[in-house]
Amino acid sequence: MIVVISGPGGVGKGTIVRALAEADPDLVVSRSWTTRARRPGEEADSYVFTDRETFERRIAAGGFLEWTEFLGNYYGTPTPSIDEDRVLILEPEHVTGPPGCSHPDAVLIFVLPPSRAEQQRRLRERGDPEDKVAARLRKAEDEEPVGLALADHQIVNDDLDHTVEGMRAIIRAEHLRRLDAAAADAAARPSAGS
Ligand code: 5GP
Repeated sequence: MIVVISGPGGVGKGTIVRALAEADPDLVVSRSWTTRARRPGEEADSYVFTDRETFERRIAAGGFLEWTEFLGNYYGTPTPSIDEDRVLILEPEHVTGPPGCSHPDAVLIFVLPPSRAEQQRRLRERGDPEDKVAARLRKAEDEEPVGLALADHQIVNDDLDHTVEGMRAIIRAEHLRRLDAAAADAAARPSAGS
């Protein structure tokens, strides 16, 4: 199952996703690929670092859900392998179309800040410069209605523990719903040999 966690900058997606993955080893967080060189001190697992040729071969093979070129380097979200019995979490920078375009079964959870003032406080606290804070708040006004219209679930990140518990409940319920649907589907199909 694929879960897409989206929301405006400063809403706390990164912290939520880390907390979810720590709480449940069956939740796997997707890692982006990049052709940018690893920065000194940067964690080795912050991206899959690769070269342009390998990246371009993967583009040609349809191996990215989305990709972009930014300051001369490629960045992309690898197409997940969904045959594993796990929950894969994607945390894209932007939601520009229905995630169902490529994965109709994906669950989209949109995270909202408790208020614009609180979002502003969090952006400042994490060290964003004042012009970036203003730009991100403006972008949130534009992107929130789009994200909410596409979302299967929305959750207000007022308290981290509360939000993570709520997300785990949503993910469990959606997972069970899919397992039930798959079982019903299998039961409705004539068994082999009959
Ligand atoms: P940085 O080089 O500072 O790590 O990232 C540069 C930019 O690339 C950031 O805006 C970051 O959000 C964006 N980025 C990172 N991964 C992806 C990805 O998988 N897809 C897209 N479209 N952008 C990404």
